[in-house]
Amino acid sequence: MPCMFSNLRLLFSSSATASPFLSPLKLRLRRPSSSSVPPLPLAPLSSLRSRPLFTVFAAVEPRRRRRLRHSQDFARGRSRRTFADDPGRDKEALMEGAGFNRKRAEGRDRSDGSRKELQLKKRPKANPVSTISYVQILGTGMDTQDTSPSVLLFFDHQRFIFNAGEGLQRFCTEHKIKLSKIDHIFLSRVCSETSGGLPGLLLTLAGIGDEGMSVNIWGPSDLKYLVDAMKSFIPNAAMVHTKSFGPAPSSDAAAVPDLNQFADPIILVDDDVVKISAVLLWPEDSGQNNGVHSAMRPGDMSVVYVCELPELKGKFHPERAKEKGLKPGPEYRELQLGKSVFSKRLNIMVHPSDVMDPSIPGPVVLLVDCPTQSHLQRLSSLGSLNDYYAEFLGKETPKTVTCVIHLSPASIVSSPDYTNWMKRFGSAQHIIAGHEMKNIEIPILGSSSRIAARLNYLCPQLFPASGFWSLKQSCLSAPDSAHGTSLSCQSISAENLLKFTLRPRDKIGLDRYYIPNKMAHSNIIDELHTEIPEIVEAAQYIHHLWNGTGETGEERSLMQEEPWLSENKLPNCLENIRRDDLEIVLLGTGSSQPSKYRNVSSIYINLFAKGGLLLDCGEGTLGQMKRRFGVGGADDAVKGLICIWISHIHADHHSGLARILAQRRDLLKGVPHEPLLVIGPRQLKRYLEAYQRLEDLDMQFLDCRNTTEASLNVFEEASELSMNRPSPESSNSHDGLTNVTNRSSKNVADSTLFARGAPMQSFWKRPGSPPDISVAFPVLQNMKKMLKEAGLEALVSFPVVHCPQAYGVVLKASQRLNSDGKLIEGWKIVYSGDTRPCPELTEASRGATVLIHEATFEDSMVDEAIARNHSTTEEAIQVGAAAGVYRIILTHFSQRYPKIPVFDEAHMHKTCIAFDLMSINIADLPVLPRVLPYLKMLFRNEMIVDESDDARDSVSVAS
Ligand SMILES: [Zn+2]
Ligand SMILES: [Zn+2]
Repeated sequence: MPCMFSNLRLLFSSSATASPFLSPLKLRLRRPSSSSVPPLPLAPLSSLRSRPLFTVFAAVEPRRRRRLRHSQDFARGRSRRTFADDPGRDKEALMEGAGFNRKRAEGRDRSDGSRKELQLKKRPKANPVSTISYVQILGTGMDTQDTSPSVLLFFDHQRFIFNAGEGLQRFCTEHKIKLSKIDHIFLSRVCSETSGGLPGLLLTLAGIGDEGMSVNIWGPSDLKYLVDAMKSFIPNAAMVHTKSFGPAPSSDAAAVPDLNQFADPIILVDDDVVKISAVLLWPEDSGQNNGVHSAMRPGDMSVVYVCELPELKGKFHPERAKEKGLKPGPEYRELQLGKSVFSKRLNIMVHPSDVMDPSIPGPVVLLVDCPTQSHLQRLSSLGSLNDYYAEFLGKETPKTVTCVIHLSPASIVSSPDYTNWMKRFGSAQHIIAGHEMKNIEIPILGSSSRIAARLNYLCPQLFPASGFWSLKQSCLSAPDSAHGTSLSCQSISAENLLKFTLRPRDKIGLDRYYIPNKMAHSNIIDELHTEIPEIVEAAQYIHHLWNGTGETGEERSLMQEEPWLSENKLPNCLENIRRDDLEIVLLGTGSSQPSKYRNVSSIYINLFAKGGLLLDCGEGTLGQMKRRFGVGGADDAVKGLICIWISHIHADHHSGLARILAQRRDLLKGVPHEPLLVIGPRQLKRYLEAYQRLEDLDMQFLDCRNTTEASLNVFEEASELSMNRPSPESSNSHDGLTNVTNRSSKNVADSTLFARGAPMQSFWKRPGSPPDISVAFPVLQNMKKMLKEAGLEALVSFPVVHCPQAYGVVLKASQRLNSDGKLIEGWKIVYSGDTRPCPELTEASRGATVLIHEATFEDSMVDEAIARNHSTTEEAIQVGAAAGVYRIILTHFSQRYPKIPVFDEAHMHKTCIAFDLMSINIADLPVLPRVLPYLKMLFRNEMIVDESDDARDSVSVAS
C-alpha cells in the first residue's frame, strides 16, 4: 500500500484538482469520522468517541508476489495501446501506475480452459443395509416464493439433489450442506425456477480444489438448450456429465417421435443403494394425435422421479439349511443370493424361502412435479405408475410407496383431481413442497436475516424492515390449504429441513428435528443489546442524524477550518430533493459466488412511481428483491422495470437475469406491455438467444457498445437525419405517442435508413460507429423514450478494464425546477462494474452525485487486485476523489470478508460500505458517510477474513 499511495500522491499533488485527502491536511484529519460526530445531548456518548470504537485490523500479508510481478510488467507503460485512446488525458500516467492484468482484460487467461474434463468424485461404496438414508426438504425459496425448493436424497456416501433453483448454493452454505458431496442433480423441469442455481453451482464446483469438480446433471431433453446457453460463460469441462432423456421438443410435428415409446420409466441410476428412474410427464393435449403430438414446446416436459431402495434380505437360518441336508459354503451362499439349491442328501430342491425369513421391500420415494392441469390429465392416466398404486390389481411386482414429495404448484395440488390421484398411494406419506404462503415467516437464510435485523435496529433509514418482518400476522397464518384434514391420506406441508427417514428401518418416517425455529425479532435485538450495549446510544445518535436540522454549528465551523470539507457541500442537484425521487437498493454486495451474508452483484435503482432499473443481476436477485420489498412488492418492482443493465459476462453479474425476466413475463401475462430492454455485453446476447429456445424471456437486447457516448452521438445524429427525412413514417415519431403498431412499421422504415444508397449509409463506415446500428436504431429509440418517461436524461455505458466487453454505466436524471423555479441539473449515478481504476471510469464519474464502485480487495491486496483486474478500497476512493464525486458507495467485496470488509477509516469521509439490502435514499446522501462508523460497530467482534475462499475465487470465469 505505501508505494501505491506515494505514487498517487505525487501525481495528484502536481495536478490542479489535487485530492484533498492526499494533501498534508490529511494528517490533521486522521479521524474525520469521529471529528464529524457532533455532541449529542446524551452523556455517555463521549465514551463512545473516546475509546477506540473500531478494531484495528492487521493487514493481511500480500500474497502471491511471484505471480504479480508479471502483471505489474504489463502495468508499466504497456497499457497504452488498448485503453489510452485519448492521449490528452492527464490521469493516464496514474492508470499505468495502477496497472492491470492485460491477459485477463483481453480474455486470454483461460487457465481453466486447459482442463480437459472435470472429474466426478470417486466415492467408497455404501453398505445398502447399514447406510443411513433420508429425503430432506431444502427450503430454497420457501420464504421468498421465488424459486422451487430442492430435495436432498441422502446416503452415507452418495448425495442426490432434485432441482437447483437460485439460492441453493447460499442455502447449502447456511445449512452446512457440502456441495462437494453432491453426485447427481436431477431437474423435474428445465426452467429458471428449477435450474436457476445451476450455473453458479457448476462454477463453484469447478473451482473446488486444484482440479475442480463436476457433477452428474439429469433432466428432460430441454436440458440440452440450457447447457448450450450456459456455454456462453461456463467452461464446457464443467458440463461434460450432463445427461438428458426423453423426446426432443420440436415445433415440427413430422419430426416428433411417437411419445408412447417414452411411456416406460427410464432408469437413470441403478446401484447397490438406490435405483432412480424417470417417468416423463407431458401435457395431455400434446399427445392427442394418435400418440403423435402436434408440437411439444420446450419446457413442456416434466418428470416424476421414482427412487427405490433395495429390499432387505430376510435373515438366513443355517440350522434350517442343515436340516435340509446342506453344508456351509457355496450352497449357503447361493441360497443367500436368492438361488435355489439341490440337496443331494434329501434329494429335494431347497428354495431360499425354506431357509430365510421373507425379505422386506425397500422404501420407495416419488418426487412429483405436475405444473399444469393438462399435465395432471396425463399424470392420472400414466400406466407406468400402476405398480405403485396401492389399490391397483394385477401388479407385476407389488411396490409400496413410502413417501411422495409434491413439487407441483399449490393450485394444482389442491384440485380435486390431484387429491384423488394422491389417494391412490394408500398409506404413503405425502409432503407438499410446492409454493405455500405458510412458510414465509421463517427466513431460510437465518444468518443474513439476523444481520439485517440488527442493521435495521441501528439504522432503519438505510435498512428498512425486511419485507418479511413487516408482514401482517393475518397473512402469515393463512389457512392450511385443502390437503391435510380433508384428505383421507397422510399429507403434510413441507417445512424447511423437514426429513423423512428411509433407513435405518426402525426409524422410517418424518423427522422434524432439524426444522428451524421461528426467529423472534425481539430475541435478535435482546442478543444485540447484551453483546454490544453501546448500540443503544449509537441508534439514538443515528436517529438524531436524521431528525436534526441539517448542518450543526460544529460542522459549519469545521468547513471554514478545513477547506476540503466543502466537498461535502450539498450539490445543486440535491436541493429540495424529494424522497420519492430515487433510492439505491444494494441487493447483492459480494463478489464471485453467493455467500452466507452477501449475495452476488445487483443494484436496484428505485425511481418509485416511475419504475426502476437493475444494474447487474446476479443469482438470487429476485429473492433479494422479495426480501427487501416483500413478495407482492417485489412483483410490482419487477413489473415496473424500465431496463436491466449488465456490466460484463461473469456469472456473478447476470445469472439471476433469466429468473427475473421469466417472472416478469408471467406477471404481465395478458397485460399489454413491451419486451423488457436488456443492455449488456455482446457475449450475453448469445446466452440469452440460446436460453430463449428453452423459455421465452420477453425481452429485447441492446449491446453495451451501442450505448457508449460515441454510439449515442451517432444515434442522435442519425435520429435527426431520419426526422428531417421527408417520409410518410416520420409523422409517427412523436415521443411517447406511438402505439405498438405504429412503432413496428416505423422500425421497418428505420432499418432501411442505413441501407446502401440510403442517406445514412455513411454511418456504417464511420470509424467507431456502433455495431449493427440498423438493428440497434429502433431499440435505441425505444430506450430513449422509456428513459425520458422515467425522468432520466441518459444511460451511457463506458468501457472498463476487467475482461473483454466489460462496462461501467452512467445514469443521469433529467433537469428539474427547484423551489425557486430555477432549472437545476439532475443527479448523476455512476456504477463501475468490475474494474481496475481507469481513465474512462474517472472521466465518466466527473461530478457524479454517487459513484458505486467495486472494492473487491482491501488496500494491502493491491497485487491481487491487479492480477484479477479488480480494485482495492483505497483505489476506489481515489477514483471518486479524482472525479470530484459527492458520495462513494463501495461494493462487490471479496467473499473472504464474510460480514464487513477491511478498510481504513481515515479516508471514508464521503464514502460508505454497502451491505446487502441497504437502501440509500437520495435525500439521505449527506449523512451517509457519518453512519458508517456506527455500522462498523455492529461487527467489531466479528471481523474475520476467510482465506479459504481464495481458492474458489481463482476460477477466472466467475468473478
Ligand atoms: Zn464480479
Ligand atoms: Zn467480473
